[in-house]
Amino acid sequence: AGPSAPVCQTASNKPSCKPAVFIPVDRSPEIQEARLKLPILAEEQVIMEAISENPIVIICGETGSGKTTQVPQFLYEAGYASSNGAIGITEPRRVAAVSMSQRVAKEMNLSHRLVSYQIRYEGNVTDETQIKFMTDGVLLKEIQKDFLLSKYKVIIIDEAHERSMYTDILIGLLSRIVPLREKKGLPLKLIIMSATLRVEDFTDNNRLFYATPPVIQVDARQFPVTVHFNKKTPLDDYSGECFRKVCKIHRMLPSGGILVFLTGQAEVHSLCRRLRKAFPFQKNNTAGGDDDKEESVEEIRKFRKSRKRKKVMTLPKIDLDNYSVVPVDEGDEDRDAETDDDIAGSDIDLDLGDGDSEEDEKSDSSLPLYVLPLYSLLAPEKQAKVFRAPPPGTRLCVVATNVAETSLTIPGIKYVVDCGKVKKRFYDKITGVSSFRVTWISQASANQRAGRAGRTEPGHCYRLYSSAVFMDFEKFSAPEITKRPVEDLILQMKALNIEKVINFPFPTPPPTEALAAAEELLIALGALKEPPMTGRLKQQLAAKLSCPISPLGRIMATFPVAPRYAKMLALSRQHDCLPYTITIVSAMTVRELFEEFDRPAVSEEETAKLKGKKARLLQMQRIWAGQGPMQKLGDLMVMLGAVGACEYAGCTRKFCEENGLRYKAMLEIRRLRGQLTTAVNSVCTDAGLYVDPKMKPPTEAQATYLRQIVLAGLGDHVARRVQAEELLDDKWKNAYKTALLDDPVFIHPSSVLFKQLPEFVVYQEIVETTKLYMKGVSAVEPEWIPALLPPYCHFGKPLENPPPSYCPETGRIRCHRPSVFYRVSWQLPAVEV
Ligand code: ADP
Ligand code: MG
Repeated sequence: AGPSAPVCQTASNKPSCKPAVFIPVDRSPEIQEARLKLPILAEEQVIMEAISENPIVIICGETGSGKTTQVPQFLYEAGYASSNGAIGITEPRRVAAVSMSQRVAKEMNLSHRLVSYQIRYEGNVTDETQIKFMTDGVLLKEIQKDFLLSKYKVIIIDEAHERSMYTDILIGLLSRIVPLREKKGLPLKLIIMSATLRVEDFTDNNRLFYATPPVIQVDARQFPVTVHFNKKTPLDDYSGECFRKVCKIHRMLPSGGILVFLTGQAEVHSLCRRLRKAFPFQKNNTAGGDDDKEESVEEIRKFRKSRKRKKVMTLPKIDLDNYSVVPVDEGDEDRDAETDDDIAGSDIDLDLGDGDSEEDEKSDSSLPLYVLPLYSLLAPEKQAKVFRAPPPGTRLCVVATNVAETSLTIPGIKYVVDCGKVKKRFYDKITGVSSFRVTWISQASANQRAGRAGRTEPGHCYRLYSSAVFMDFEKFSAPEITKRPVEDLILQMKALNIEKVINFPFPTPPPTEALAAAEELLIALGALKEPPMTGRLKQQLAAKLSCPISPLGRIMATFPVAPRYAKMLALSRQHDCLPYTITIVSAMTVRELFEEFDRPAVSEEETAKLKGKKARLLQMQRIWAGQGPMQKLGDLMVMLGAVGACEYAGCTRKFCEENGLRYKAMLEIRRLRGQLTTAVNSVCTDAGLYVDPKMKPPTEAQATYLRQIVLAGLGDHVARRVQAEELLDDKWKNAYKTALLDDPVFIHPSSVLFKQLPEFVVYQEIVETTKLYMKGVSAVEPEWIPALLPPYCHFGKPLENPPPSYCPETGRIRCHRPSVFYRVSWQLPAVEV
């Protein structure tokens, strides 16, 4: 009985460990052959012994060594998956969950009924599922329903090095669930897998695990990768630099796929277009690309010259003991040899050779280039293309964002071009103001990227930055949980009855100020019970950080959306507003409904095409914004209109393309609407709600209620237009004041309320680009504010305290003065919500 895992003795002269059960798998000969080449196969015995002897095991191995695809298979063969318990694997990225489940099903020759996936909006899980890939957020939701995760015999947390917020919290929770399962006599195995993991956060963390789990290093049979640094670091135009580098590689170096790392979707597309133009796929370099060709001949000459003085080093491995960068000699894969002495002795020699050896004068310039984009918003069928062999007689070139760094291994890559940058969202942990910024990657990331070139044969990585710049990179990037607002996380934890969040065993705890801001917001939304305001200030603060969840909070926690949006749903029962709120909340959660047409074009023809498409979208947005008083719902009315119109047309790709809607977003909204409708029905069983895709537009009265509902959810996101007498200087023209910032904020030019400038608005978010811009804007009436948002209202002059504080992430001063509400009238008309 119990899991039929192999039983091992720990003594050193133990008998060999044979699994008690062996479930045969019928793999095809090709698959079997490919598997045998993976480094992890050599470690199967060690891994399975460690798992059978320990409740928690950490497996570290280079990307591509076979962790994600093989470990679930080892477990399956050893009998860990059965009808009364499954193997669950979490991934931080949806792309990985879907594609890995497909890959494993294929390798094992099993149907998707047995090897399945579940991501937020979709899945193919059945009653028979034995191996289940899911996003980390999905497993967190399952813990809420069944804290002991009794469905599972093994949980694998994959890509733990990414330190995504949900991965971190799952590890914290599982550190408690594993001993509880042990006590119940139903042991649960936990396996944490990662590429270049800073294991200390997990092993040297006495709050986390009671006994330090064993760490198994999978020696990656990584081929040597020669790293070429640029002599100089280009300031801005890394995209152009990428283009030039790919041209040179393609024209001069032997066959082998090229992988380019850029930072965002627009960049990826524009480089793809330039490359396709320069190396037309069918017509072999004759048509179109003349300019580029001329440029390239000159460049090749320059490149040949410059190669002589280029700095070159082999791929450094990150030494986990002291995080120093250690150059590894070709062929030296023995980690044990990296003693302290070796490290001390190996002053990094940047002139290890000039890299000319094997890549001399061969030219593949006649080969067409098969250019493919890869980023997370790309449609799945287009993503899958990168795994297939390129058409015969072509060279594969994948232009990717960070998704190609660790989650997906693209076969046949020999050259990596690394721009050294990544686009990240930066948050002010307190105000939630966010901006996307392109920053330098960490050394760990740079080495990951370089490693992608050495999977099948020796490779080359071209870093478009100097070795000096590399040395200044931070060693690892900080865990996500320390960098963003955590109110959604805190609400989920409170729903699990974890009241003293501050004592939770986080692998790396979020900063106390972020925890405090989250609790404050949740108290204001009514999701947590208000703490007693008695006792000393210190006790009050402590009480504030350990408030229990309220009944409203429990309802909010059942909705798979951010707490502010969950509050809107919880308020929407009246006046048949629910279907509309569900749609608005879905659209706000999915984000980026509209195509971006303000991108650089490669030809005049394309410029004209983009202009036409943009004009069409603007025209449609004006129609969707409705008429008369409806317009006050602003961008949210546009969202309703767009979703309604799209569904009315059958939600086809054609309709989306013609009208500037993002097809993938529309499909996600449809799924989320379904999911939220089910969630609402399960909370209020008498609502009997169903999704009518072709929703009628709301009535005028409903539009007004919707504005109140949105206000109640986005209470801390109210802004007031600056009045003439307050105009300090020109920078405040058309500006708004918000409750949390001292700086002027503006309605985003893409908003339908951009020209109307209502006195009071609520906004979905503030994003910083050239200025601070509010997006997702609706007008609200001032007299609603005191009625709906009493916790935020102070009447009279702005309070003097608390003092303004500084936010290091955004470099801004926050003011905690509720000056926005200063002008709100005292006379409270009755408002029904
Ligand atoms: P790890 O998790 O250690 O990074 P994986 O298990 O993801 O490694 O990958 C192991 C091997 O399987 C890689 O060589 C990769 O190229 C191959 N592989 C993974 N997914 C696919 C796929 N969809 N098609 C073809 N090969 C794949
Ligand atoms: Mg993996």
